[in-house]
Amino acid sequence: SATPTSYFYTDKSEAECKIIPRKKFSHKGTFGHGLILAGSHGKMGAAILSGRACLRSGIGLLSMHIPGCGYEIMQISIPEAMVTVDPDHKHLSKLPQIESYSAIGIGPGVGKEKVTVQLLATLLKQIKTRLLIDADALNILSENPYLLDHLPEKTVLTPHPKEFQRLAGESKNEYERLELARDFAKKHKVIICLKGANTAVVLSNGDVHFNSTGNAGMATGGTGDVLTGIITSLLAQGYEPEDAAILGVYQHGLAGDKASEIKGQSAMIASDVIDKLGW
Ligand code: AMP
Ligand code: MG
Repeated sequence: SATPTSYFYTDKSEAECKIIPRKKFSHKGTFGHGLILAGSHGKMGAAILSGRACLRSGIGLLSMHIPGCGYEIMQISIPEAMVTVDPDHKHLSKLPQIESYSAIGIGPGVGKEKVTVQLLATLLKQIKTRLLIDADALNILSENPYLLDHLPEKTVLTPHPKEFQRLAGESKNEYERLELARDFAKKHKVIICLKGANTAVVLSNGDVHFNSTGNAGMATGGTGDVLTGIITSLLAQGYEPEDAAILGVYQHGLAGDKASEIKGQSAMIASDVIDKLGW
């Protein structure tokens, strides 16, 4: 296209100036109430990782919507989270009331059952707040491309390379992939976090913000679910979606770097990244 692209690099100072300090006379209502829809039978871990990371990223209140089989697992693993239970035992099938939430994240461990496709379609119809879509919820979009027309403006998408390929098609090299992501972000007016080493946060105007933090120790199951929790938390707190994506990706990588200093890249796991959020 004819519009010039701007490329940016998110270093420490770029990231830190985005942080909104917590006011002394604040209360949990000040920091938003988020909803994460996650998990299915055998994949409740993804829900737990995203929920924990969300709570460790400054949110005021968190509710988790999960299938029936995950109820005790969730209540025991994350006492800080409230839980709404889906009528389906193994999969997400029915959208709960969503009016009261300041942001919604969906995807970690949800699978692609028909009932879950329906849930996502209903969510896209009803939602009036900020939204993040990850993991199998992205794959549902790829398999039901008509849903792309219903994405709210500035929805944050967090695909890894395979998920992005399913969503936007093949590319010959990383440059072409980035161009695809820019076209996609502009066309659908969304924000894409193209995950990997130096995750590229592609804004809906085509600008690209490359992240400076993170390491190969994060190439392990569950780290993407952690990112979903972090960005959903920032969205719920009222961060602009661009800032939530750029800052969230930075903080995620920074926590990964701290985890690798203690555990080493081979031994670290997604839970270690959550433990290193904050100081
Ligand atoms: P997912 O594949 O959804 O679990 O997401 C993996 C997460 O780990 C993303 O946030 C990636 O940016 C991060 N990640 C994976 N591999 C690397 C790497 N080699 N260097 C830095 N970050 C990585
Ligand atoms: Mg993932």
